[in-house]
Amino acid sequence: MNYTTQHIADITNAQIIGDNNLIIRNIAFDSRIIYSTKNTAFIAINTHKNSGEKFIESAIDRGITAIISEHQYPQFENITWIIVENSVEFLQKLAKYHFENSHLKSIGITGSNGKTILKEWLYQSLWNEFPTVKSPKSFNSQIGLPLSLLQINDSHQLGIFEVGISKPNEMQKLEDIFHPQIGLLTHIGTAHAANFESEEELINEKIKLFKNSEVIIYNGDNLLVDKKIKQLYSSKKLISYGFKENNQVFIKNNISKDENIIVKYFDEEISFPAHQRDEATLTNALALLTVLKELGIENHKIVEKINALKSVEMRLEAIEGIKNNIVINDSFNLDLDSLKTALQFLNEYNKPKKSLVLTDIVGVNSNSQELYEEVSELVNEQKFDSVFLIGNEISKFSDLFNSQTSTFINTRELIESKHLTEIENQIILLKGARKFEIEKLKDILELRKHDTVLEINLNAILHNINYHKSLLKPSTKMMAMVKANAYGLGSYEISEFLQHHHIDYLGVAFVDEGVELRKKGITVPIIVMNPEQHSYETVIQYNLEPEIYSFRVLELFYEAVQKSGYDKKYPIHIKLETGMHRLGFKDFELNQLSEILSDKNLKIQSIFSHLSSSDMPTEREFTLHQLETFEKNSSYLIEKLGYTPIRHILNSSGITSYTHHEYDMVRIGIGMLGESPNSEIQKQLHPVVSFKTVISQISQVENGESVGYSRRYKTDHSTKIATIPVGYADGIPRLIGNQVGNVGINKTLAPIVGSICMDMMMINVDNIPNVREGDTVTVFNAKPSLKEFAEYCKTITYEVLTSISPRVKRIYIKD
Ligand SMILES: *Cc1c(COP(=O)(O)O)cnc(C)c1O
Repeated sequence: MNYTTQHIADITNAQIIGDNNLIIRNIAFDSRIIYSTKNTAFIAINTHKNSGEKFIESAIDRGITAIISEHQYPQFENITWIIVENSVEFLQKLAKYHFENSHLKSIGITGSNGKTILKEWLYQSLWNEFPTVKSPKSFNSQIGLPLSLLQINDSHQLGIFEVGISKPNEMQKLEDIFHPQIGLLTHIGTAHAANFESEEELINEKIKLFKNSEVIIYNGDNLLVDKKIKQLYSSKKLISYGFKENNQVFIKNNISKDENIIVKYFDEEISFPAHQRDEATLTNALALLTVLKELGIENHKIVEKINALKSVEMRLEAIEGIKNNIVINDSFNLDLDSLKTALQFLNEYNKPKKSLVLTDIVGVNSNSQELYEEVSELVNEQKFDSVFLIGNEISKFSDLFNSQTSTFINTRELIESKHLTEIENQIILLKGARKFEIEKLKDILELRKHDTVLEINLNAILHNINYHKSLLKPSTKMMAMVKANAYGLGSYEISEFLQHHHIDYLGVAFVDEGVELRKKGITVPIIVMNPEQHSYETVIQYNLEPEIYSFRVLELFYEAVQKSGYDKKYPIHIKLETGMHRLGFKDFELNQLSEILSDKNLKIQSIFSHLSSSDMPTEREFTLHQLETFEKNSSYLIEKLGYTPIRHILNSSGITSYTHHEYDMVRIGIGMLGESPNSEIQKQLHPVVSFKTVISQISQVENGESVGYSRRYKTDHSTKIATIPVGYADGIPRLIGNQVGNVGINKTLAPIVGSICMDMMMINVDNIPNVREGDTVTVFNAKPSLKEFAEYCKTITYEVLTSISPRVKRIYIKD
């Protein structure tokens, strides 16, 4: 977009306070990920759940000078205010105007599953054919769609936008803002069906998006969809695709055979090799192919484009680097849009120094001077310490970059220069087009090299936290338990991510754990559950908050506070014993406790207790008794204190099973990692951790031969045996060897055979077709699930996670 503030006001009936002639090109809605302040207005979006106005200050701190808001805050000086009646309606009005006055061809994608992946695939296939704009991430809602549309500018010829609804009557509103020429309907499933009476109602709502479309491309496997579309839109051009042969576009041959996929497209046949052959992936490929045909792309190019998708992983990885660096690897494609996303991602980290490796942008038809001017503007705003440019094109424009900039013909030249390996204590972004193979840089910068990794999906953690939050009152605070290295997953990385997402409290077990977080820049309040008695000085020095569970600890800690010269009331947390019999004050101690506390310079920040059996339906009565004791004893103490500290008792399964006892805060642990003892809740959570490795070797072991130490397994027929490089030193208990446990390959279980060795184990892969050396093996989470794996080990998921050895590389991913 490109409007003056006055023009925006005219379109939307807003009121300007300040400069009427400011040019606005971007609207930022999240103050944390503002990647550019130039010509950018920050919009404070108010929804019924949240007010964006509390982030105005941080947007201004970042350098924003134009604010769109329902209220003006005169304390901020030199700000131009666009005052609107309703922030969401403002966005929608502006987006509608903007879309209707743009001249691009538009594709609107809706459906239950596959919208985001299809949008990304289409974008990857089309951005080098036409200047293309798309929705970022999965921005598809009443707010996300308008924000996406506002990215359209004059140069764009094609727009690909996702449209998502979850309730009746929402599509009407979205269609009023956005009416795509090409409508694409993906699979309709039950994902959002909850708010609809019937499948038919859901379908009717979704297809309203196509009211003004010229072409509708839809998944016709669902016969009701097929019928409805044909009924309602018989006058439009309709193309159906899917697995069933009633579709105009379908797969002709048997997909389980190891041969090219042959697609029947009306009377034509188009064939391509496919690596991933699950139904969902192939259905998406059919949709992609159909849209590309519709846009007039030639068959050989379509096949090329589909092949290029093969290794697509739509995510940025953050990797622990050598010399205390963090390496963000985004080395599979490069365009302006993904550069912006990567810069946003970078801004979520708190490292003061940063460097960038950037390559030529390849395959674009537009003017390169203009393109690299835009690139350098984006990059210059980030104030990188050093910028390394790879490629002849971008190198020509090195003068445009303000940082210390060096240029290289190719990736090898940069490696040989050794510049990168000198960097210390920085965040390094690797951003390049695929052909430059800058992932080679990742190999050099990465701290540990191992085929075995523990992958941690941070978005899934956020989803799981939000799911638990959705059960609670909006005002209830949340503490995330990151003790024991966040259940083995990495307490800093997870705390940093949660801090960014406004977690209220963090909980650790010991002081050292809290100190590590503080040293690395975590500033949210941290409670220490078991502060050891020689650590109180450190507690105070690092602004940690101790759990106080006995008179002895109270006296010792208070002494330390006095000695430290701390002159305000120091925050502490009082633990009550309610039935766990671990730590805490008992009911007969409360009177004395209140007296001691009354003349001490301490602030009781919270009163809490812990449930011993909230995960056990059979102990409901006991748990209710614990809750009752807590209510009684905490109320008694509060009355004596004369003020009201916050109260909390629920852990993850407490949140789901005893929600009404949420008090002022809850403490989530295993639930944010995607595990619940309740199978209904489990379905709502997303898996967070997966432990993976690869096959080192496959051997055919003849009948009667033995495998591994002590010859504990002997084959009873000629058997295919694979060796994988994880053993008991990685945290796999030796007791699950010899056919107790399984690992997963291609979604099939393979039993562990023979004794587990220190660094390796052997598995029977007889039942796994096409298995090859180098194939990925899932130790847990997917198949087998973490829960199943814990069952092999005869323990609980908590112990499995905390047992994974530190030598296993942790990788953090965000979509
Ligand atoms: C570990 C812990 C939790 C979190 O328990 P989950 O079952 O993982 O949710 C909550 N409170 C206390 C005191 C804890 O030690």
